[in-house]
Amino acid sequence: MIFSKLDAATYPFISLASRLVKELEESLGLNAILSPDSEVLRRSVERIREAVYSRATSVYKRDLEVEVLSHPVALILIKHMNNKRLVNVYAEAEKNRVLANLLKESQEKLATLAIDGFNWHVKREGDFLFVRFDDYLKTSVNMLDAYWKLVNRRLVKGYVELSRRDFSRLLAEAYRTRILEKVNQVEDVQVPSTLKSVIEELEREFQGVLPKVDVSATYVGEYVPSAFPACILKLLEEAEQGKNLSHMARFTLATFLLSIGKTPEELLDLFRKMPDFDESKTLYHLRHIAGEIGSRKKYTPPSCATLRTFGLCVANDELCQKVKHPLTYYSKKLKSLKRGELGKRAK
Ligand code: SF4
Repeated sequence: MIFSKLDAATYPFISLASRLVKELEESLGLNAILSPDSEVLRRSVERIREAVYSRATSVYKRDLEVEVLSHPVALILIKHMNNKRLVNVYAEAEKNRVLANLLKESQEKLATLAIDGFNWHVKREGDFLFVRFDDYLKTSVNMLDAYWKLVNRRLVKGYVELSRRDFSRLLAEAYRTRILEKVNQVEDVQVPSTLKSVIEELEREFQGVLPKVDVSATYVGEYVPSAFPACILKLLEEAEQGKNLSHMARFTLATFLLSIGKTPEELLDLFRKMPDFDESKTLYHLRHIAGEIGSRKKYTPPSCATLRTFGLCVANDELCQKVKHPLTYYSKKLKSLKRGELGKRAK
């Protein structure tokens, strides 16, 4: 299957998109692309604004080359804004746009996109697509709902069976993860001084809409359940079982996961199984405690002392005796896990 320019504009993760970006950069020059009156810059800013205000970006079909270039330029702008919340919001919005388009594709095209974009090992049979289990695990690890756990999937000779819809969701999630990795990798491109004013203007504009995350207290982008304290693991398990959690239990779980970088939209699936689930109300509450709407205050999880009062503490290891807050537990455990990994690699 041969991809078109429209495919490259719609699916920035395919190899044709990277090739076009390289060719266009060589022919136009980075300075022209980043100049204040460039159409690419205008579209990049628009793309970021779409993400912030609509939670989904669109595909600008009037000029496909502009659209192809606008994604890497948007990443450069976001990198310079240094707002982790914005990185997550942009990645989520791009995922939403890609998912909406993937859902309209044929089975053959979905398989080709996954192979070309992510080197997945894919098979097709009847109405299903099959992804090799290691490719599946790499992406599904970030998906909170137990629905995505390997034990809950049908495995055939090392390949995970997926409907077209689930395959599309997995592929869109792989794209979201790639954006998060890419922003960390974007080299420190020397931006022209005129671009600095665009960045500052956007920073000011988003200040009220997307409060900056306090990185000293939180661990954005690092979702490592093996480092979660027992209280959070228990709540996570109960939510996945669809138990009717108390208000305090829901608040604790939501604030903990939001504090480590999950977005309100990502948490929706987690609460979906609860008996009184209402999508718009839940999203409203999640966005409220994430500081996106209402008082704009970003809430943090309650302390261990408060959780003990509410009977939610299930302290079960030595580290619990040394901490006063579940996020401190997470931070310390994460560091010790990383030290352990480094130690193993050094041997
Ligand atoms: S001591 Fe704190 S971190 Fe540990 S289980 Fe209790 S509430 Fe959670």
